[in-house]
Amino acid sequence: MHHRIWYNGRLIPFEEASVHVLSHVIHYGTSVFEGIRCYDTERGSGIFRLREHMRRLYDSAKIYRMEVPYSLEELENAIIETIQESGLQSCYIRPVIFRGTGSLGVNPLKNKVETFVAVWEWGAYLGPEALESGVDVEVASWHRMAPNTFPAMAKAGGNYLNAGLVKMDAVLNGFTEGIMLSVDGHVAEGSGENLFLVRDGVIYTAPTSLSILPGITRDAIITIARSRGYDVVERAIPREALIIADELFFTGTAAEVTPIRSVDHYKIGSGSRGPITKEIQSAFFDVVKAGNDPHGWLTAIPARVEEEVAGDGV
Ligand code: PMP
Repeated sequence: MHHRIWYNGRLIPFEEASVHVLSHVIHYGTSVFEGIRCYDTERGSGIFRLREHMRRLYDSAKIYRMEVPYSLEELENAIIETIQESGLQSCYIRPVIFRGTGSLGVNPLKNKVETFVAVWEWGAYLGPEALESGVDVEVASWHRMAPNTFPAMAKAGGNYLNAGLVKMDAVLNGFTEGIMLSVDGHVAEGSGENLFLVRDGVIYTAPTSLSILPGITRDAIITIARSRGYDVVERAIPREALIIADELFFTGTAAEVTPIRSVDHYKIGSGSRGPITKEIQSAFFDVVKAGNDPHGWLTAIPARVEEEVAGDGV
């Protein structure tokens, strides 16, 4: 990968994009970030829900008292420029805002706020077969944070220490992913995905008050499901409801819409992708693959007008 990285206002070579070891983020996890996908749709390259992702990024920065030296629009343009520069038609986009050098204490206020955007190629996160056959998951022994510990609405680097414990346990136990419960034992979400449950034709998902990340795919799936006439209920889900669900699926930028075929070795429904999951998944892929965009969710990447640099073989 030899793409350029947008770092504090400039596109620089991949090899030069490094941070100092005394950056606050390395010691205390003080970063906020986003994961966004740019799709190669049948109607050209498009970023899925760019504005909503940027809004969440700036919300996360505000919660952690980070003053971003760029406007939201400037950073959106930086993302588009980084994609154009990469020549990729589809990619994963990772903007990060973090506390750099300045002071070595816990207090981050004296540390400068730095920003970068990286893009790379990325396929199906939970495996290429997962979208069709579904994944095997466990209920994690680590829970989501309590509401008064870490702000769950912020997508902060430090939160992923918890997510990493869940994911490592799941993989070492032979599962693809772990489902976290909230502090009071209700179903929350996966380590990097929101969760939906179907029972008797009604779709359920955890409310944001249970310390889940307010997923942008989650929001899109709620919109898609409601527009197709389904009842979508946001309510606390007891753990055992997972076992007796007709269908379960994960949503997320990385996971897209991934069916779950078993939880703790209990077969879910028929043990493969259920009909409602399939319908919602096809409606989602109709937007991001076919480029049919009734909700205005795709931001087109304009072709860049530039002269070819002769002899530049990089
Ligand atoms: N929950 C967590 C903990 C996540 O990390 C993610 C991925 N950002 C999600 C849910 C899904 O959110 P989104 O649909 O915005 O990617």
